[in-house]
Amino acid sequence: MGKRITKSKKFIIIETILLVLIISLLNTSYYFKNKILTIDKSMIDEYNSLKENQKNKEKELTKLNNYYIEYSNIDNKINSIKEEYFKYIKNLENDIISGKSNKKIAYLTFDDGPYYNTYKVLDILDKYNIKATFFTTTTNGTYCYDNRSYECFKLYPEYVKRGHTIANHTYTHAIRYGLYSSADSFIKAVKDQEEHVKKYAYGYITNIVRFPGGSSTARSLKSPIIEKLRENHYGYVDWNGYDGDGGMLSSKDETWNNFISTINEKIEVILYHDYSRYTTALLPEMITYLKENGYILLPLFYESVMIKK
Ligand SMILES: [Zn+2]
Repeated sequence: MGKRITKSKKFIIIETILLVLIISLLNTSYYFKNKILTIDKSMIDEYNSLKENQKNKEKELTKLNNYYIEYSNIDNKINSIKEEYFKYIKNLENDIISGKSNKKIAYLTFDDGPYYNTYKVLDILDKYNIKATFFTTTTNGTYCYDNRSYECFKLYPEYVKRGHTIANHTYTHAIRYGLYSSADSFIKAVKDQEEHVKKYAYGYITNIVRFPGGSSTARSLKSPIIEKLRENHYGYVDWNGYDGDGGMLSSKDETWNNFISTINEKIEVILYHDYSRYTTALLPEMITYLKENGYILLPLFYESVMIKK
């Protein structure tokens, strides 16, 4: 009997230990289950909020895509209006040349900008509601061509906003320092400027070139350069009207006399420089003179008869 009692005591102890163990195990598992449920809930909440976020982003994306499509269409619309407009001007040019029309055209062109002074030129053109052509150059890539004015790159979008034609006057303009050392170096300077314009003027692509110093400056390289320009779908243009502002002018009178003595063609491409104080001062009078003499003032375009290809 005594042995049995001892055995059952042992059993009771073991049973109690087991019971305690089971209870504590149950408690632990309950604790973890609760914990997991809490984590689960927070994960579900997070998932839901991410999903909501995704929905909002998708909505935004659809909205942006719609804007983009609309924007692309506007671009196409502008291009087709431009094409139509230039086709009309091209026909007018042909009629003027053949004598069918007695109208006259003057293309105002400004070389070597942008300069800080360009703002003044742009304001005068705006005042008279005239679109012109700007043959741009970059020289050292930081300042304006005069090496004194700053932040001229802001002017590139300004040309576009005000509806002017941006053209290419090479990246370096280094007439005596390598620009005319080979046809390849010239084309590189043209391509570099094209990239520069594209970067600063909302992706604007220009395919009209003016040789720094004029095409005769290229001498024996003129033909190989023209060949390369053609291969790369560029056209070039010199000028037949000018006021001499690229040289040393001594007075407004001299500038004015230079100007009127060169305006005698039915289609004029007039060379100016946007840095010239004499040109800036006389521009309103020159515009009035051209209008009074029957000229329509227009921006240049690649298809124009004046662009050699
Ligand atoms: Zn120049």
